[in-house]
Amino acid sequence: MLGFQGVKKRSKLPTVLIIGMGDTGVLVAAHLRRNCQVVAVTTRPVLLSGQELGKRLTDLAYWKKSYLTPLDAFRKLDDVECIHGKVIAVNTEEQVASVECNDKSTRSVCWDYLVIASGISNGFWRTARVESVEDVEFDLERQTSTIMSAKRVAVIGGGPSGTSVAFNVASRFPDKDVTLFFSGEEVLPGYHPKTRAYHMNRLGEAGVIVKPGHRAVNSTDEVRTALKGGTVAFSSGQPDYSGDLLIWATGAVHPNTAFLPPDMLDEAGFIKTDTTMTVVGYSNVFAIGDAAATDPLRSSARNWAYRIVCRNINALIQGKFPAHRFQPPGSRWGSVLGLQSNGLTLHQQNGRRHRLPVWFVQLILWPWIVTRGIYGGIRKDTSRHQVSNGLNNDG
Ligand SMILES: Cc1cc2nc3c(=O)[nH]c(=O)nc-3n(C[C@H](O)[C@H](O)[C@H](O)COP(=O)(O)OP(=O)(O)OC[C@H]3O[C@@H](n4cnc5c(N)ncnc54)[C@H](O)[C@@H]3O)c2cc1C
Repeated sequence: MLGFQGVKKRSKLPTVLIIGMGDTGVLVAAHLRRNCQVVAVTTRPVLLSGQELGKRLTDLAYWKKSYLTPLDAFRKLDDVECIHGKVIAVNTEEQVASVECNDKSTRSVCWDYLVIASGISNGFWRTARVESVEDVEFDLERQTSTIMSAKRVAVIGGGPSGTSVAFNVASRFPDKDVTLFFSGEEVLPGYHPKTRAYHMNRLGEAGVIVKPGHRAVNSTDEVRTALKGGTVAFSSGQPDYSGDLLIWATGAVHPNTAFLPPDMLDEAGFIKTDTTMTVVGYSNVFAIGDAAATDPLRSSARNWAYRIVCRNINALIQGKFPAHRFQPPGSRWGSVLGLQSNGLTLHQQNGRRHRLPVWFVQLILWPWIVTRGIYGGIRKDTSRHQVSNGLNNDG
């Protein structure tokens, strides 16, 4: 068990169990703390964000400052009990979850309300593995050095991850030969046409060799997650391509939901979730993030749905109806390429874009809006992080 110092037991309050402490689980946990006891199961003692894959692979020091945060550094998680491990079964009748802890012991956790934020597994960069901080750091370093040592790099897949990786590798390392293969005519399906066209131009300017209309022959999970060299074949008829690094970002995602009752899931394994973020058929179970089938783009992570989950759980606790509703936008929005030397470009649903200057991102957006405003404060004191990264095995 990862026991944060200063956890206060407030047993008279209802217990909310959060499964998964990624981007959305942390936000829900941080905003629920006042009127309930929050217990969270986390595969890692750190928030390893799914955001900005391109920056993660090409500028790890910068990326870690923003996207790799020890859970006990979040001030708003001080009252949250975090268990290091993974949920392996959920019994909705008994309202209990079975957890396999990082030391392989198992324990049961009772809940009054359940929030499922277990995300998806995708390629080499998003997994449901139970890991230590050292494991996470080792993988991040290894992935970065794999990129550094490759000369001929192929990125397969034109979604936000593939686009971000191809752009960042080509612009950070102009000596590398970077090719981006994707099946459509333009990158970023699901984004506004203007956003798609903008990124086609940016990729070209960065020196990426752009290959539309290339549908890669599906590979095994093992190959897609390996991050190594090889040959890719195309069912669309073009010749094979061999490179000394293939980065598969074809969106072959697997929801991390195998531990849930099958009736909670749709045919693809995502969680059937209504507009109140409640799991269909379960009035005290909520789902959020990439595993939650809230809308066709499953966009609840980036569209502030943690507020809806928290408000509706608060309403239930107060005996009220969960009346707040998630209204997803029709198109994807946000940053794709991450912070560049000319600023951070944010794309709106209507295709407009705004560029935030570097000084604004570094002096205002990150420290004030994100760190304080959204997360409620993050400690910089690393000695504290090292203490709790040591994991108390007090079960
Ligand atoms: C504020 C915000 C802004 C964003 N902006 C952008 C943007 O500009 N551009 C962009 O591309 N994306 C953006 N995103 C989206 C983001 O890339 C993903 O959608 C987001 O990471 C998904 O979060 P998640 O919590 O569903 O999954 P994850 O962050 O992957 O978290 C899931 C966690 O659950 C764990 N888990 C899995 N199974 C279990 C289990 N059985 N038991 C316990 N734990 C388990 C996993 O290991 C993982 O740690 C944004 C997200 C947020 C929150």
